[in-house]
Amino acid sequence: MNPFFEPYNTPHDTVPFDRIRLEDFEEAFMEGIRRDNEQIEKTINNPAKPTFDNTIINTEEDEGYYDLLSRVSTVFFNLLSAETNDEMDALAQKMQPILTQHANDVRLNPRLFERIRQVHLHHRKLTPEEKMLLDNCYEGFVRSGALLDEAGKERLRQLTEEASMLSLQFSQNLLKEQKAFTLDITDEAQLDGLPETAREAAAQEYLEGLGVSGERLEDSPKGWRFTLDMPSYSPFMTYSTQRELRKQLYMARNTICTHDNAENNIEICKRLINLRREIAQLLGYKTYADYVLKRRMASNTRGVYRLLNDLVDAYKPTAVKEREELSKLFSAECRTENVEFATAQGHTQPTTAVANSKLYTLNSKLQPWDLGFYSHKLQMKKYNIDQEMLRPYFELSKVIEGIFGLANKLYGITFKENKDIPVYHPDVKAYEVFDKDGSYLAVFYADFHPRKGKQGGAWMTEYQGQYIDKKGENVRPHVSVVMNLTKPTEDKPALLTLGEVETFLHEFGHSLHGMFANTRFESLSGTNVWWDFVELPSQFMENYSVEKDFLRTFAFHYQTGEPLPDELIDRIVKSRNFMAATACLRQVSFGLLDMAYYTQKDEFTEDIIPFEKQAWKKAILGEQLPDTCMTVQFSHIMAGGYAAGYYSYKWAEVLDADAFSVFKKEGIFNQETAQRFRDEVLSKGGTEHPMTLYKRFRGGEPTIDALLKRNGIKIHKTHKTHKTHG
Ligand SMILES: [Zn+2]
Repeated sequence: MNPFFEPYNTPHDTVPFDRIRLEDFEEAFMEGIRRDNEQIEKTINNPAKPTFDNTIINTEEDEGYYDLLSRVSTVFFNLLSAETNDEMDALAQKMQPILTQHANDVRLNPRLFERIRQVHLHHRKLTPEEKMLLDNCYEGFVRSGALLDEAGKERLRQLTEEASMLSLQFSQNLLKEQKAFTLDITDEAQLDGLPETAREAAAQEYLEGLGVSGERLEDSPKGWRFTLDMPSYSPFMTYSTQRELRKQLYMARNTICTHDNAENNIEICKRLINLRREIAQLLGYKTYADYVLKRRMASNTRGVYRLLNDLVDAYKPTAVKEREELSKLFSAECRTENVEFATAQGHTQPTTAVANSKLYTLNSKLQPWDLGFYSHKLQMKKYNIDQEMLRPYFELSKVIEGIFGLANKLYGITFKENKDIPVYHPDVKAYEVFDKDGSYLAVFYADFHPRKGKQGGAWMTEYQGQYIDKKGENVRPHVSVVMNLTKPTEDKPALLTLGEVETFLHEFGHSLHGMFANTRFESLSGTNVWWDFVELPSQFMENYSVEKDFLRTFAFHYQTGEPLPDELIDRIVKSRNFMAATACLRQVSFGLLDMAYYTQKDEFTEDIIPFEKQAWKKAILGEQLPDTCMTVQFSHIMAGGYAAGYYSYKWAEVLDADAFSVFKKEGIFNQETAQRFRDEVLSKGGTEHPMTLYKRFRGGEPTIDALLKRNGIKIHKTHKTHKTHG
């Protein structure tokens, strides 16, 4: 019997992973699609006048028989990321077009849309949550072109297809160009400064380039290959003392896809910008940004520009100082080098003539290819901190206790492992979560370490979303965090870096959003919120990673039991703000660029390279190099889903800092504050506009002040309250 077709009969109706066979998926998918269609037919053919209850809710609440497709999809696609194999991958390839086709058939069904449109026009008095459900449903259809005439629908289809084809080409060109460049070194002296790990990887890369694989042979040709891939590029730019080589690598990376060849992305970018503008205009918006931002917490372009401009104003003075400090170090180092060189030449002082014969001339200026190198030098000089130093204090089992303990301190919830709950891999742990009154709250799965068949990175997902069924029963969620944390070895337990602890806190924050969900409809529950709001609960939790009172609860040396020294924590906190203003301006410059392209009202015909320099000018320090170009490699906004959305990285930071500042004021473990956060934000999912929810918790709109404070940026007197939302 196919387990998807019957009640699971497991603790809390958790997925019976142990009973699911590969063939069950396909059978359930096909039957699920059939039932979906049957239900839509029933809705369409209902002779009664379309109402909210017989049209909108119907497709939402018919759990049991009609939720088969979502039931099987959830399990299948979660496993495809966390525990896949060749057969699963092949089945995904087979199912994907069928599922896309089905989704399109539903979205483009004119009779179904007509009923929804009628309800949208006339409906009974709705609760805010019902209203949100109706809007989401209606907007989903409208954004797929449901209101257009046949010619309009056809045009939308063409534009969308061309855009997705060009996005793909953009990415392929980028990849090709990235792979095409290599920097080969055969003189070992030119590796000066590079750490052993970077040298080894480069030697391996070099041998692979020669077609020699496996172990390095004694007589194999000696060489090192550096590429534009981050794991190769980034250490080189940080550690190499060879300025000329750094320049070569930097220029290669930053002129990618601008050359006179088939991989040039300039015209593709222009076309993509115009295609998206046309799509938005066809659907009734002035610009693509207007189209995107209508369904975002930021609401409109004004809200986004206010954020970006406020950040420039606030951070620029500090960024300028940071740059000066770096320039000072650079000049001092150049001078030392020149003195050494002059001395070697028999001079007592470096003369211009002598110095000019070297790359470091007396007048040389800090260049973009120097930034990584000298920043690292300066950081080491000031803080002398290394991620590895902290590992012994972050043993995984202690970190788990610490994080569960934090949830207990804040919300009173408790975690109890339950080995009767089936899991999809022996490494996965399943917990029952109980609320502060002892009642059952959720199931929490945790999957900590990398293995074959599991994607890289970290994410939170659900096997069951929360909702209230027709009988009024509150169906509690089954959430899961999937990560790739350092594994234990034969002689050591799993020892994490601080970065990994933060990752855990981040995903745990998402899972609290899921576990506390308390809404009526599943599609509005938990993390189903607007896109620039979803990282608030997760990034909020990251704040605890540098709170002494939290670290004291679990950060003990795994051998000696010594607590993590306060002095070390202080240095960590300080070193985190190193170059914070520079980093902020960089993110803001990308946000400005993104907005400049997607707020175009008319056909975009400008030259990309000079346009880019102009668009982000106010967030750039120093001169710009005329040949480099970011746009042609800016996958986020050209090929990814971040078009008119890049600002959201900073937006989420503003929110999490602002929200955490309330806890800083009222106590980082304050249970009343936590309860308010739970009641107004975490439990509400996407049932109302995120700004409405946030304001109920905060008592006002977020400002950038808390972020400035966290980054150690002085708030000037002239600096008025910074609203991030109009
Ligand atoms: Zn996240």
